[in-house]
Amino acid sequence: MATMHYPTASLKPHKNEVLQSGHLWIFSGALQQAPRWIEAGGLVDVKSATGQFVARGYYNPNTDIAIRILTRDSEEAIDSDFLRSRIRHAVQLRSVFDPQQTSAYRLINAEGDGLPGVIVDRFADILVMQIHTMGMELMRAQLIEALMQELDVKGILLRNDTQSRRREGLEVEEPVVVAGEVPSQVTILENGVTFLVDPWQGQKTGFFLDQRDKRAALRKYARGKRVLNCFSYTGGFSVYAALTSHETSVTSVDTSASAMALAHQVFTHNGLEPERYEFLIADVFDYLEDAQQRGEQFDIVVLDPPAFAKTQSAQAQALKAYRRLNLLGMQVMRPGGILLSCSCTGVVGLDDLLGILAQDAQRLNRAVQLLELYTHGVDHPINLAMPETSYLKAVFCRVN
Ligand code: SAH
Repeated sequence: MATMHYPTASLKPHKNEVLQSGHLWIFSGALQQAPRWIEAGGLVDVKSATGQFVARGYYNPNTDIAIRILTRDSEEAIDSDFLRSRIRHAVQLRSVFDPQQTSAYRLINAEGDGLPGVIVDRFADILVMQIHTMGMELMRAQLIEALMQELDVKGILLRNDTQSRRREGLEVEEPVVVAGEVPSQVTILENGVTFLVDPWQGQKTGFFLDQRDKRAALRKYARGKRVLNCFSYTGGFSVYAALTSHETSVTSVDTSASAMALAHQVFTHNGLEPERYEFLIADVFDYLEDAQQRGEQFDIVVLDPPAFAKTQSAQAQALKAYRRLNLLGMQVMRPGGILLSCSCTGVVGLDDLLGILAQDAQRLNRAVQLLELYTHGVDHPINLAMPETSYLKAVFCRVN
């Protein structure tokens, strides 16, 4: 085998230990000697303070996370074969999905699939890709080629429109087709339910794939009940609930008019008449306050808000928002009702969320029973050495 030559970076004493646990980030403060003569995003070999090979990854001098690890095998070159093998490994995990039931899932979950800085979502026969780091940006062409080789898809849309790219010194771009063709709307199946996805303009990559298992879990509670879905987007939880029985009443609330318009279409595609359900373009906090004033009572309330904080410094503010939201949610619940409370804020942990629910319950003098806990689905694997990359918490409870 040809010997590989990559520029080297060396670590301060003991800084190699966390990498040996499988963690994939090296912060700039851990570097004894930064690599020299290398472009931002370039590949490097990481050596311990004593000069031993530790790992290989890519380097960016412009971010706190100076190096993201791609392999700990000194024999493994970072090339097309590497990308294809990581992709195959990821594809294998997703074989748990029966394509007759579920045709959309996260195919590559960045660090969780050993490919830091890139996510790829599959929507039937198209892929939507997002690149978050300079290192992956330099491998863009190889990555696209490898995806086209490993997967039978009609096209790839690159959605490099996330603001976080700026931290890496990357441009925020318009969505662009980088392989084949990508239509303006894609029809997908999720647990046998049909959804319409707008990969070009939809939020994130077009659909919140990380709620699949919670949507399915909601079904058993929803039959014939009065359901309120807050932050409903294109009607994910709403349509699952509505499909349980014609007797089920569903109210969907979201500020996005385009998401609500798509939600109407999604109902129709599933054989449900949108006129029989309530779709409200409104701020959830305002809606819940008004609903409480009117004395509205629901059997089931879903709270799936967007992230309330992106940084540790904004944590206190986020906790306050969750406290208020869950309090308002509980106030419109009939005794014995089911609350599904979610948080996708990374800096708010499961314990924080459970604590908030307990506090809110106490304030309202209501007893709450914890029923089920969820994180992301199986298509969002988390590297166990990097619990900080896990973000989603979802709690089903009964509010008496
Ligand atoms: N539950 C959805 C995903 C929710 S994502 C699903 O299963 O697909 C969060 C949603 O909250 C987005 O659709 C966004 O438009 C909406 N949103 C953000 N702030 C809001 C607010 N204050 N009131 C109502 N909707 C809001």
